[in-house]
Amino acid sequence: MTTAAELDAADPLARFRDRFVGAESDLVYFDGNSLGRPVAATANRLDVFVREEWGGRLIRGWDERWMDLPTTLGDDLGRVCLGAAAGQTAIGDSTTVWLYKLMRAAVDHVLRTDPDRTEIVIDTDNFPTDRYVAEGIAAERGLSLRWIEVDTAAGVTADQLRDAVGERTALVVLCHVAYRSAWLASGAELTRIAHDAGALVLWDLCHSAGSVPVGLDEWDADLAVGCTYKYLNGGPGAPAFGYVNGRLHGELTQPIQGWMGHTDPFAMGPGYTPAVGIRRFISGTPPILGMVAMQSMLELIEEAGIDAIRDKSVALTSYAVELADATLPQVTLASPRDPALRGGHVTLHHERMREVTARLWQRDVIPDYRDPGGLRIGLSPLSTSFDEVERGMVAVAEALR
Ligand SMILES: *Cc1c(COP(=O)(O)O)cnc(C)c1O
Repeated sequence: MTTAAELDAADPLARFRDRFVGAESDLVYFDGNSLGRPVAATANRLDVFVREEWGGRLIRGWDERWMDLPTTLGDDLGRVCLGAAAGQTAIGDSTTVWLYKLMRAAVDHVLRTDPDRTEIVIDTDNFPTDRYVAEGIAAERGLSLRWIEVDTAAGVTADQLRDAVGERTALVVLCHVAYRSAWLASGAELTRIAHDAGALVLWDLCHSAGSVPVGLDEWDADLAVGCTYKYLNGGPGAPAFGYVNGRLHGELTQPIQGWMGHTDPFAMGPGYTPAVGIRRFISGTPPILGMVAMQSMLELIEEAGIDAIRDKSVALTSYAVELADATLPQVTLASPRDPALRGGHVTLHHERMREVTARLWQRDVIPDYRDPGGLRIGLSPLSTSFDEVERGMVAVAEALR
């Protein structure tokens, strides 16, 4: 078995680790998929922003840069991480709010053209907020949910989706990488299945953006959302992103029509006329501080390249699986074994993992816990070393003993 030191020495992205706050300490961080470490450059960037841009430009900052930041940074994110051409991605709100706005816009559009499409297809192991928002929209609009029952150690397959969709389907809501198992869905294939049934599809990219290449335009996806505090290291509560395929901009009307989505916000006119393009999906004043914080990570991702990041992610998760197989015979893998079907984390199952997680946190080894009995090991590619994986897995074995 190759050692951690050999893997680190051969890692073409190893040099990026020093660019994160805290990477020099002995702490083992296995939760970069919930809250990425800060990029060191972010501290200075925020300082300069406060002193010079906010402090110096004051209200002029809105005209000079901030008004356009949701879409200019959205374009950067689209290019670097999402496979989305410019003009289709905007930043702001939370993922939950984007889910509401885009799901509502999608079902309203479909119902206008075909009132018999009264179902939203979603899986039972989709992230809670996605399921709750879908439930709320179904109640608001008199729709029903069609549930795909999934194995919590895997995710939605093409066959399952094919069985669930049909002429009643308005919208399909899927995660690209499952938050529990890390199951990596086939974006292109599942999008095609939804389209063949005449439905729209919304992809939740929270656990993909920044760790797994995404091809929204290539898949011909309709809608997508995702957060920026996980693998995009934007910081706690950093604003989320929404993507709407350009071919739908003129068709969809979003439900939170605020002044910032108006065609001319400062005309302050009597009625609402939506802006042309992705701007119509913005609602209120954009959260600029949160966008400043995520820029450093986007620059690092662009420098490293998302394909190289994915290669390292596969190597890290494969190494964690290899160590689990060799040292944790009492544990079962609750993630796909095939790296081609796995995103950036690995979930290990044992009935005592809740206690194990608490014990590890006391020792500065930080994974997280997800029911049932899942220890989730998130391996953010640019900030995690193979040595860190090895030390963490030794600690898991000790805590289990
Ligand atoms: C983290 C996560 C969210 C979080 O939504 P917030 O509105 O930021 O709280 C939503 N969906 C998925 C799949 C997630 O992993």
